[in-house]
Amino acid sequence: MSRYTGAVCKMCRREGKKLFLKGDRCYTAKCAVERRSYAPGQHGQSRKKTSEYGLQLRAKQQAKRYYGIQESQFSKYFVEAERKQGMTGPNLLKICESRLDNVVYLLGWSSSRNEGRQLVTHGHYTVNGRKVNIPSYLLKAGDVIAIADKSKDSVKIKAVLEANGARPVPQWLDKTSETEAKVINLPERDQIACPVDEQLIVELYSK
Ligand code: SF4
Repeated sequence: MSRYTGAVCKMCRREGKKLFLKGDRCYTAKCAVERRSYAPGQHGQSRKKTSEYGLQLRAKQQAKRYYGIQESQFSKYFVEAERKQGMTGPNLLKICESRLDNVVYLLGWSSSRNEGRQLVTHGHYTVNGRKVNIPSYLLKAGDVIAIADKSKDSVKIKAVLEANGARPVPQWLDKTSETEAKVINLPERDQIACPVDEQLIVELYSK
């Protein structure tokens, strides 16, 4: 599947908000949104009135960029979110949040979601004792995620843990040790940090 590999900070500047795509740098004054809080490009500083449709479209783009998900997969998630009980918008974010690449990032086992995707692909993590190398793998309550035994001595994994291992973990995940964690339950909306108005996405897909 193709994936955006350009300058990620431009995506945040385009959306006018921090999407936390670059690990530690996002929390420092070096963040491009902190330094230049206007859209990139020649007309980036000109004021434009955004239509209702434009706002809805931007909300969808922000969520896709935040989680690093392509349109086809995102629209499948929307269909699944509609089928589930409860409100579609929070259901949609809940599905995105339960992806394995997102969860390893939340556990501090990667410095960004994008790096989480790479490390999952390289087979560094297990779910319920079995290696899973699919970044979009959806976790459920009770699943146990761990760093694979053979990866615990990896220089890369050690460096990632050293840099990110102390990051606070959301309450819906129980980090039982430095290299193992359990999904207590899937998150409620107020436990999801994604800075997007998901109702706008629902309105967009409902047109
Ligand atoms: Fe770049 Fe992170 Fe700031 Fe976004 S939040 S502009 S990815 S440093």
